[in-house]
Amino acid sequence: MLSGPSGVGKGTVVAEVRRRHPDVWVSVSATTRRPRPGEVHGVHYHFVSDAEFDRLIETDGLLEWAEYAGNRYGTPAGPVHERLATGAPALLEIELQGARQVRARAPEAQLVFLAPPSWAELQSRLAGRGSEPVAVQEARLRIAQAELDAAGEFDRVVVNDDVARAADELVGLLTAPAPGLC
Ligand code: 5GP
Repeated sequence: MLSGPSGVGKGTVVAEVRRRHPDVWVSVSATTRRPRPGEVHGVHYHFVSDAEFDRLIETDGLLEWAEYAGNRYGTPAGPVHERLATGAPALLEIELQGARQVRARAPEAQLVFLAPPSWAELQSRLAGRGSEPVAVQEARLRIAQAELDAAGEFDRVVVNDDVARAADELVGLLTAPAPGLC
């Protein structure tokens, strides 16, 4: 399971994993957030309404979920269980609260923290994204600070100094001798 602060490049690293290692299975989350330009329903996220998200929670359809910067995000449980039942690993890209829930439900899951090369680099990446209002960027920065403090809770830390290198390191962990939930 890959977690880490907003803006550290989790999405970019996971996209690189998909590109370089198309055999790696990546969970597609449900979210109440609106799609950004270029995001495709069913590929990047399942974009759902608040009512649909409520129903997923009520029917125990989510492995974990969290509210993040005003929207809800969750991992659909069915596809992950099906994947793990085949003995193959599954990769989740989620934020910290969700990572803690997965740890509680599946202690064997491997938690990987994606760290920025430096705090200054993270700040400039968050500001540079530019697709969101300043208030949202500031909220993400506050969350990022708290998330950086949590690095010690994770099994492994991968530094995103180079996207291709970080992607390969992550896949190496995922396919290491005891594959499972990462
Ligand atoms: P974004 O809006 O930038 O796509 O995602 C915001 C945050 O939500 C990121 O930190 C991302 O990792 C996290 N996230 C995406 N999907 C999930 C999910 O299914 N569960 C949880 N807990 N967090 C998620």
